Amino acid sequence: MSISKGIALITGSAQGIGRSIAVQLARDGFDIALNDLPDQNAKLELVATDIESLGRQVCVVPADVTVEKQVKEMVDDAVIKLGGLDVMVANAGIVEVSSLGSSTLESWDRTFSVNARGPYLCYKYAAMQMIEQGRGGRIIGASSILGKMGFPYNSAYTASKFAVRGLTQAAAVELGQYGITVNAYAPGAIQTPMTKTMMDEFGKANYERIIKDPCCRKWVMSVSRTRWQTLLRY
Ligand code: NAD
Repeated sequence: MSISKGIALITGSAQGIGRSIAVQLARDGFDIALNDLPDQNAKLELVATDIESLGRQVCVVPADVTVEKQVKEMVDDAVIKLGGLDVMVANAGIVEVSSLGSSTLESWDRTFSVNARGPYLCYKYAAMQMIEQGRGGRIIGASSILGKMGFPYNSAYTASKFAVRGLTQAAAVELGQYGITVNAYAPGAIQTPMTKTMMDEFGKANYERIIKDPCCRKWVMSVSRTRWQTLLRY
């Protein structure tokens, strides 16, 4: 095992983008704390086995990122098991697709709870730990291309991803004095279980219509032709 480059905690890492980030950071020499909802434990253990086979230390810290007590315990647990925290990736997120008119307050609250409150709590407890350690750190959150531009039938999701950008910018200017950088990633469409959910809920025909809609041209142009073809194969 080579010398560790640091300890990284990735939320929502049982599958999709979070899983890929965790495996790549392990390949890059980081020890890894894997988080997802407690009912995703079996999948987390499989990711943990993959990371162990790369010769890195790994631990599983299940928690619901919307619950403050659980986020605090998740960070404390990772620190106890791996010896500190250098990178927090607040990746966990959900999407629910509906028109503005048929959307519900419950869906709005659920989306904001996971996509905005979750990153807020993760940033908060990661920052507290990193400041205490006194060796800087990296905090990274999942925004989206929908955190930069509106998209139809995704009001709550789009608004929650704009919120991540605001949180990230405020935290970055505040935490720079401690040597902690704060950034967000804003991917276009990536083929994961989440995009499959979107396709299932929204329907391939609706996406095909949106691709042709001039109002959505900017968004559509940002996703390559090959990517669209891959997504529409679901
Ligand atoms: P995904 O649905 O495949 O994975 C998300 C993971 O988050 C799941 O394992 C889920 O169990 C976990 N999760 C959900 N709620 C949680 C909670 N309360 N506590 C802990 N874990 C929770 O999604 P993905 O496509 O891998 O997306 C990852 C992140 O990237 C999300 O924030 C998403 O909004 C963002 N994103 C995705 C895309 C895309 O096209 N896939 C594009 C832009 C941004």
